[in-house]
Amino acid sequence: MIDDDYLRSIKELIYFSKDMIGLMSFDGIFKLSNPSLRNFLGIPQNELFEKAFIQFVHEEDQNKTLIKVNLPSLGNATNPFTNRYLRNDGSYRILEWTLSPVKGRSFILAVARDVTHIKKTEEKLRKAHDFVEVILENVPNMIFVKDAQDLRFLRFNKAGERLLGHSREELLGKNDFDFFSKDEAEFFTTKDREVLSGREVVEIPEEMIHTRYLGRRLLRTKKIPVHDSDGTPLYLLGISEDITEEKKLVAESEKNKNIIKSAKMINQLIQHSLDAVIGLNPTGNVINWNPQAESIFGWTKKETIGQDIGVLLFPKNYQKRFNRCLNNIFSVQNNTQGNRRFELEVLRKTGDLFSVEISVTPLQEEDERSLIVFVRDISERRNFEKKQLDLIKQEHEARQAAEQTVNMRDDFLSIAAHELKTPITPISIQLQMLERCLKDLGTEKINEKLLKMTQNSKFELDRLTNLIDELLDVSRINAEGLVLNIQEVNLGDRIHKIIERYREAALKKGTVINETLESNITGLWDLARIESAIENLITNAIKYGKGKPVAVTAGIKDKFAIITVKDLGIGISEKDKFKIFERFERAVSVKNFGGLGLGLYIARKIVEAHGGSIQVESELGQGSVFSVKLPLAHESFEKEFKLQ
Ligand code: ADP
Repeated sequence: MIDDDYLRSIKELIYFSKDMIGLMSFDGIFKLSNPSLRNFLGIPQNELFEKAFIQFVHEEDQNKTLIKVNLPSLGNATNPFTNRYLRNDGSYRILEWTLSPVKGRSFILAVARDVTHIKKTEEKLRKAHDFVEVILENVPNMIFVKDAQDLRFLRFNKAGERLLGHSREELLGKNDFDFFSKDEAEFFTTKDREVLSGREVVEIPEEMIHTRYLGRRLLRTKKIPVHDSDGTPLYLLGISEDITEEKKLVAESEKNKNIIKSAKMINQLIQHSLDAVIGLNPTGNVINWNPQAESIFGWTKKETIGQDIGVLLFPKNYQKRFNRCLNNIFSVQNNTQGNRRFELEVLRKTGDLFSVEISVTPLQEEDERSLIVFVRDISERRNFEKKQLDLIKQEHEARQAAEQTVNMRDDFLSIAAHELKTPITPISIQLQMLERCLKDLGTEKINEKLLKMTQNSKFELDRLTNLIDELLDVSRINAEGLVLNIQEVNLGDRIHKIIERYREAALKKGTVINETLESNITGLWDLARIESAIENLITNAIKYGKGKPVAVTAGIKDKFAIITVKDLGIGISEKDKFKIFERFERAVSVKNFGGLGLGLYIARKIVEAHGGSIQVESELGQGSVFSVKLPLAHESFEKEFKLQ
């Protein structure tokens, strides 16, 4: 049982409720209304009671409303629904209704709320959303949204579908590893995590992706982290611009810039080249003529452009050949490799012929073919080469003349030496006999004077004999080489004997000869020759030794006999050390020291014929040490000697 108080309080609740509340019969006529409903509609209660609920509903919303109105009559309450409801001022407001049957009373309880404002806001939001959608869809850049958790795609726009070559259905819910190579996917996701861990927009200036239909593309991507109010990352928004074409254009324009730059440089080079540079078209007409060409040939650029190069530069009889040559170069298809070099003679404007070196390089630019001809004036070089050749010829002739002179001198030497030697032997015999006769005669004074004169003559004759022997030796060495007469020799003994022979004469000049000679130096040598070589060293030491002591040593070292002759005399300069072993070479003037300059030459020849060597150490003014190194037995002598 419902008591009166209860009913009264319900009535008050309804009366004061902000919601609009009314009671209507099943035929849709209001029977009761609270002030909120009346005020909202702006009509008095009696007017409201005369009208059906549906009369206030906007025409377009009436059908759906009628369906709802029927529900309570069937005993069911409606879910909240909206319609546009007419107010007295003619305006429509959007009301949200709930209709429910009042049990056992054949009434419908209608509760309404003005949701016009909410609905309008919703509408606005929807429109704004649609607007954003349209923009997103039509932006030419790829836009995608990934969830922050596992970076799966949540949104993808049309540009993204086109770029990647996958439909939205294929993409959504997947991640990078489903579409890209492992390396690419790892690169992208690492970047994504980096972006999500911060709050900044991150720009990736260039990233390469492999797309399904467009191949490799270069992207410039901005990644934007989206967080909730607590700072928890929610989404990753990405905007990628395909910059492949842009990059290509930049590279292309860079290339063009470089081409222009090199063209300028080449032009500069041509202008300032030290060679004449001439451009020719396939018919041999001049299309380029640089300043150096002007200066070499004497024709100005103006005079030559368009002219036939053959007529300009070649004597008449050469023109045909040159044209043939030109045709040859151009007839070879795509003949752009390699250049050809010629040396020929061409004409200056003045008509003078001069030598040039020409290098011809064919060029092919699209359909145009041309030739670049580099011309170098080599007339100076040619003159120089000619002079050189003349010099070489002159030198050759001079050498031939000198050789001839030497040959003549050698012939003369050999003849003269023989001729001189012939009378010497009888004179020597005569002198010996004279000396003996004088010694046999008794008268002392006259005898002594004559004896002295005879002895002096003998001494001079000996000197003369030595000189002639030297000359004979040299001419023999020249003619037939040295013929050795090998025998076993004890060198120590022999050297001692030579020293003894000269000791007295040396002493007269104040020279003491010291000797250190090993006794067992035995080897296979030509006794007379070796003696003469060592004798020459000792007599030279006395001759050039300034009266100071001379030391002679001989010993064995490693199967070699080593002989040294040391003096403390005038010495030999560095520049003369080697030449004194040559024929007629001397380091002193004839005024100070007599001699033919043959002794050391013969000594060297003798020592070398034995397989040995001779050398000198010396300092000007300090003396000299001559050393001879002789193998104890030359292999060939050994064989020969044993066979005998
Ligand atoms: P020659 O003594 O007859 O001139 P050599 O052939 O024996 O001819 O010597 C050649 C030259 O070597 C000599 O003219 C001399 O200038 C130099 N010479 C040789 N031996 C000595 C020495 N012991 N000291 C200084 N100069 C020497």
